[in-house]
Amino acid sequence: MFGAIALTLLGLLVAVLLLRAACFRPRPQKPLENAPVEFDKDAAVTALQKLVQCKTISYNDPAMEDDAEFKKLISLMPSLYPRVFDVCSFQELPDRALLLRWPGKSGDAPAVMMAHYDVVPVNEESWEKPPFSGIIEDGVLWGRGTLDTKVTFNGILSAAEALISQGFVPEHDIYFAFSGGEEVNGMGAVNIVNYFKEHSIQPALVVDEGGAVVENVFPGVKAPCGLIGIAEKGMMNVRYSATSNGGHASAPPVKTPITTLANACRNVIRHPFKMHITKPAREMFDTLGRHSGFGLKIIFANLWLFEPVLDLICRLSGGELNALVRTTTAFTMMEGSNARNVIPAQANLVSNMRLNPADTVAGAKAHLEKAVNDPAVEITVLESFEPSPISETGCESWDKVATSVAQTWPGCIVSPYLMVQCADARHYRDLSNHVYRFSAMDMTADERKSIHGNNEKIRLESIAKAVEFFIRLMKQC
Ligand SMILES: [Zn+2]
Repeated sequence: MFGAIALTLLGLLVAVLLLRAACFRPRPQKPLENAPVEFDKDAAVTALQKLVQCKTISYNDPAMEDDAEFKKLISLMPSLYPRVFDVCSFQELPDRALLLRWPGKSGDAPAVMMAHYDVVPVNEESWEKPPFSGIIEDGVLWGRGTLDTKVTFNGILSAAEALISQGFVPEHDIYFAFSGGEEVNGMGAVNIVNYFKEHSIQPALVVDEGGAVVENVFPGVKAPCGLIGIAEKGMMNVRYSATSNGGHASAPPVKTPITTLANACRNVIRHPFKMHITKPAREMFDTLGRHSGFGLKIIFANLWLFEPVLDLICRLSGGELNALVRTTTAFTMMEGSNARNVIPAQANLVSNMRLNPADTVAGAKAHLEKAVNDPAVEITVLESFEPSPISETGCESWDKVATSVAQTWPGCIVSPYLMVQCADARHYRDLSNHVYRFSAMDMTADERKSIHGNNEKIRLESIAKAVEFFIRLMKQC
């Protein structure tokens, strides 16, 4: 009798799971008006080439920076985008911030389009072509910063240049907000945000670098996905220190700073942060999960039951999927004594943490203290910032960005996601809950790897796509 009831219930459960999976179908897309956009593609390519030729490298030590190269880029702008400089006001704010305002029919609810024009250093010997010559070969422009992110800097300005020449005036003001120190957490974007606050300018829409149109990033989904970041993880660098009286390595005590820290490290790794499927991950699973295979649909359509399974998969696989759903810990630095036969008086470990939107800096520190559970280990938070707020998705601003992505890359599945890296957009936290992080490009896995790496280069068609995206977006602003 009991067995029969259990079997019936199990059968019912399986039926519910299968039915939910069967109904978990892609949402119908509204048909898109998709008029072609007109602009001068050659001019856009040449402009990006000129920008790449400026060695605007940011260093943590500002003394190593070549200010003349930053000035050179700024002085080139009016000749590369002459109509923009006819129509828009332009000002430089401290820390290499550039702010342009394109007056619309109304000054209310403006849009802000962001980019940074500094780049990270290069390891020139490892490049196949010189990183700052702007060489174009076989339909590809080589150079540091082509992808990150002079392409969007140029995309924004070339789009405005084209629209202004066609006599277009946006409904609302559009600001172009550029920073020259994003790669070293410079203050440029902060100064622009402060300017907005001082002038009571409240953006209805902010777009900065972030996701892209990418393939093979979600299990079981073959189609390209246009991922728009609606939040950014927080960041925290943590130092773990242990001390001793030092001494010679020939008669070691049972515990040394190194063994203490090794235990601490093991304990942190054994106690991963709790999985939290926050809005960006939930909406991503709910959008892309509908396009995956039936087996995976059973999981994504029934997360109420399968969350523990997903948790286990994420823990075991690590990487991008895991980073979407929990705070991650990457141990990055360690130091002990500087002689092979000396026990260190102090040893240090450093971990770089990326905080899930559900966690906080204080909560993460408390978690680490509990996991380490050793008074001999001193845990210090070195630098930190909280996760960004989560931007809205069911609103007009989201629709404008999402539509522009779908129009520019027909056939791609547009989805919210959580950005695991940091960008200047995080500074807009008190100013807008319509901050969207999208680098207007379709990128291959190799292209993504070349960002901050060797042989960064961009296909000329990608340069044009970025312009096209911003034209479509600006037309709706
Ligand atoms: Zn960047």
